[in-house]
Amino acid sequence: MKQNIVIVGGGIAGLEAAKRLLRLGYRPIIVEKQDRLGGHVAQWHCLFPDMTPAGEVVSGLIRDTAEANIFLETEISFMNRLRDGYNIMLSNGISVIARAVLFTTGFSLFDAAKKEEYGYGVYDRVITNGDLEHWFNTGSDKRVDGGEIRAMGFVHCVGSRDEKARNSQCSKVCCITAVKQAIEMKKKFPDAAVYCFYMDLRMFGKKFEDFYISAQRDYGIRFIRGRVSEVSEDIDGRVVVKAEDTLAGKPVKVKLDLLVLMSGMVCGRDTESLASMLRLPVDTDGFFKSRNNVSAVVQSPLEGIFYAGACTGPKTIPETLAEADTAALEIVSFLYRS
Ligand SMILES: Cc1cc2nc3c(=O)[nH]c(=O)nc-3n(C[C@H](O)[C@H](O)[C@H](O)COP(=O)(O)OP(=O)(O)OC[C@H]3O[C@@H](n4cnc5c(N)ncnc54)[C@H](O)[C@@H]3O)c2cc1C
Ligand code: SF4
Repeated sequence: MKQNIVIVGGGIAGLEAAKRLLRLGYRPIIVEKQDRLGGHVAQWHCLFPDMTPAGEVVSGLIRDTAEANIFLETEISFMNRLRDGYNIMLSNGISVIARAVLFTTGFSLFDAAKKEEYGYGVYDRVITNGDLEHWFNTGSDKRVDGGEIRAMGFVHCVGSRDEKARNSQCSKVCCITAVKQAIEMKKKFPDAAVYCFYMDLRMFGKKFEDFYISAQRDYGIRFIRGRVSEVSEDIDGRVVVKAEDTLAGKPVKVKLDLLVLMSGMVCGRDTESLASMLRLPVDTDGFFKSRNNVSAVVQSPLEGIFYAGACTGPKTIPETLAEADTAALEIVSFLYRS
């Protein structure tokens, strides 16, 4: 089977690039290892900063890419470079000759259990940002449903900006995700006290600052600047959090019915093995390394290999979609030239 363009990863980056390529007259192959499309965004509930339902974004993209050649539950078994393209063996036994390959394999959520001090997997009422999105969507998680929520907290920077966790980079989206999740929880539990424990607040995007101000002014969410020093469980199963409030200059101790760890975005699980097939470089944080980080973010050092979305580092959805569009145009211009 011969095809010009293979997209590895059917998250929003892969789907957006496929949509753009279809509109330009190409019929790309999408290779997705899961049994569904949409990647992480398909697991989110609603999106910052304006609470757009995530499902709407994903279903729109799936509708717009119905004409693509899509292989679900399929991975790349083997890949090598030819004189003018790439030979790709898929795990479903199909072999493809591609002139251009676009990696859109995304990210993984940091495994919060590695930060033992926060008690994820040990204390019943400690969950992650990913778990909370799942609960918003399904309404079922005994760690959240298991009793009244009178007080809850969010811990920022879990597995990000943390040398010990081998990730010194900022994950970019977790400050604003905490604001969004805190507001969603306040809507469900208006009487609950909600705390965010942060080191710095990074509200860099359009309307993010407004959203953060609204969280304080309209929902009474309390932001405490200071690193959490200790998490434990009391005899009633409540989570006890100790922190240093560095603005007020005093220690804080709160008892919570739920603690949400804002796990960071780390490199995708398969990045290293995919990169090694073609000897592509990866960055110190394990993400694919772009040709450069200013004007060639979607290009790899290899001709015909492109990137889009969170496979090169933490990104928001608008950034991911914009990169996917750029990558699609770069691929078409590469095919014209070659
Ligand atoms: C908790 C949380 C909430 C967020 N909320 C928002 C929000 O409200 N607004 C916003 O702008 N951004 C948000 N983001 C960021 C958003 O999730 C990312 O921008 C987006 O997921 C990036 O899309 P992607 O397609 O690059 O990667 P992914 O979503 O990770 O998709 C990658 C796809 O590639 C597939 N794949 C991986 N490896 C292989 C392989 N070897 N072979 C085949 N397929 C493979 C995966 O299965 C997946 O389907 C949030 C992030 C987090 C952590
Ligand atoms: S976005 Fe906020 S919570 Fe996430 S790593 Fe950066 S500073 Fe920490």
